[in-house]
Amino acid sequence: MPNTVNKFGLCLDDFGMKDMLDMLFERFVKHIGAVLLPDVGGNLDSHHGYIVQYGMGQQDVTEDIHVDDSEVTLNICLGYEFIGGQLFFESPMCEKHVHTNIHPEKIIEVNNSVGCARLYRGCHRHGARATTSGRRVNLVMWCRSSIFREAKKYDKEFKDYCDECQAEKTAKRHEMMVAMTKVLLV
Ligand SMILES: [Zn+2]
Repeated sequence: MPNTVNKFGLCLDDFGMKDMLDMLFERFVKHIGAVLLPDVGGNLDSHHGYIVQYGMGQQDVTEDIHVDDSEVTLNICLGYEFIGGQLFFESPMCEKHVHTNIHPEKIIEVNNSVGCARLYRGCHRHGARATTSGRRVNLVMWCRSSIFREAKKYDKEFKDYCDECQAEKTAKRHEMMVAMTKVLLV
């Protein structure tokens, strides 16, 4: 298994494609990640690339909602002809909130057409709709930052990138305001 999500896939490093992935990572993903997703992608320093395929029969059909073991993920649709397979995204979540209830109203769906590349935070809960006919093949590159992972250990209570943390922070502030108002009114 190339990762914990997909049963069928190939780790590209095992097939002599490490140099190609290194180049893609060093020349493009590191820099684009730092610019577009600076809160998590500012110091990317390693990657893990694999190919996954979806379709009816022996392969995976859908990809359940999950987060990646990455700071930034590059996901490129390579082929072939297929129906379905749209990617969907819900919310970025920290480790504490990764298994909280899904909010269907927050889900957005994007096409997964051939040649299309998506770059997103690994902590952004996402999945893929069923590939109902044909065969869909995607290249996925998990990009990690050792500095980000080390810093996370000492991180503050409420993570800026996590919707649930922000909701908890707002609720706590509200509680404090109510308590202060009561004190002032006494
Ligand atoms: Zn959180």
